[in-house]
Amino acid sequence: MTATPDTTSKNDILFARAQQTTPGGVNSPVRAFRSVGGTPRFITRAEGPYFWDADGKRYIDYIGSWGPAIVGHTHPEVVKAVQDAAARGLSFGAPTEGEIEIAEEICRLVPSIEQVRLVSSGTEATMSALRLARGATGRDKIVKFEGCYHGHADSLLVKAGSGLLTFGNPTSAGVPEDFVKHTLVLDYNNIPQLEDAFQSMGDTIACVIVEAVAGNMNLIRATPEFLHRMRELCTEYGAVLIFDEVMSGFRVGIGGAQALYGITPDLTALGKVIGGGMPVAAFGGRADLMQKMAPIGPVYQAGTLSGNPVAVAAGMTTLKLIQQPGFYEHLTAQTKKLVEGLTAAAKEAGIAFCADSVGGMFGLYFADTVPTGYAQMMAGDKERFNRFFHGMLDEGVYFAPAMFEAGFVSATHDDAVIAETVEAARRVFARLA
Ligand code: PLP
Repeated sequence: MTATPDTTSKNDILFARAQQTTPGGVNSPVRAFRSVGGTPRFITRAEGPYFWDADGKRYIDYIGSWGPAIVGHTHPEVVKAVQDAAARGLSFGAPTEGEIEIAEEICRLVPSIEQVRLVSSGTEATMSALRLARGATGRDKIVKFEGCYHGHADSLLVKAGSGLLTFGNPTSAGVPEDFVKHTLVLDYNNIPQLEDAFQSMGDTIACVIVEAVAGNMNLIRATPEFLHRMRELCTEYGAVLIFDEVMSGFRVGIGGAQALYGITPDLTALGKVIGGGMPVAAFGGRADLMQKMAPIGPVYQAGTLSGNPVAVAAGMTTLKLIQQPGFYEHLTAQTKKLVEGLTAAAKEAGIAFCADSVGGMFGLYFADTVPTGYAQMMAGDKERFNRFFHGMLDEGVYFAPAMFEAGFVSATHDDAVIAETVEAARRVFARLA
């Protein structure tokens, strides 16, 4: 919560300099620490579960580049694959065999994906999936859920309108009301509301898009009943069900949230892990839908760097590494140890706190119970979270710099790393009590 820059801190000097040429000094808003206050750390290098800032301080990293770093930072095999690919050429603007290989791997690992198109960001993946759903159904309306984030395409930057079944309001300046008037924003995990929406306007709904394990309102699990009913309603009314697994894909388990819940969406958006830290994302699903994409179908979508060979090499190597025997058992166990350790430490200090995890993804809540929706999550103790965040940062542990973000564990977060984190938390919770 530095008000004036510390002229001896390289982070402060870099932040002041960055703000001269970049709005807010960052290239993606959450990096700016606006929610927690203070100076963002400028990172110079990373390895395994750690990264180091410009002042040379080491942190245990629980962001993992917001999800991609599942095998740990600078995994030697990923780095080697990137170096080898870069030596062969950075970008061709023509197809490569590597793109076929990663497409085949994605289709094999996520059976609902019969065909896939590579893009460079999760935003592009969801935006293109929406366009495909609208193009395929000839309908305009889309359904999303409050608190789910699907990237920053215009029609998805929407919050709920004033009435339950009224269309949404833009959450960003520059998004015309006209663009979001087709987006209906409903409560997460609210089955009756979803049923009402389909009953009153089901024939006009092109698609429902959902984070089946939500990671953008902290971590919140969908109930199985909610997702199964969503699947039934989409089928009944001919709407396309899109699972946005940009975050949950290959993070909560090998086949993503859809494998955990046993639900087959029509389309899936992927990102983060499939690029292993490089810009690769994808959307895919039923072949009859994907066949509607240009160049063979009427739905247009393209990208100069889509399927970039260097990025694909990082992604493909990461997809191989996560298939090693026991990978997810280990990741899940380590994440559980972290949340159980933190919960016990908070309890010792008498702090209202709970935590949850799915695979290698976790949520920390300064509340008595794990939230089931956006409003409940927002009711958590933000001030206490912010003090916890800064206390941990001082201790050399880097959690997401906002109460409403999930956290990520990598396969390199071993027992010693988790124990060091929990010990630090014990000291910080004692100060918060
Ligand atoms: N969808 C989900 C579920 C996400 O978590 C994100 C980013 O955090 C996106 C889409 C957007 O992805 P990107 O930031 O790569 O555009």
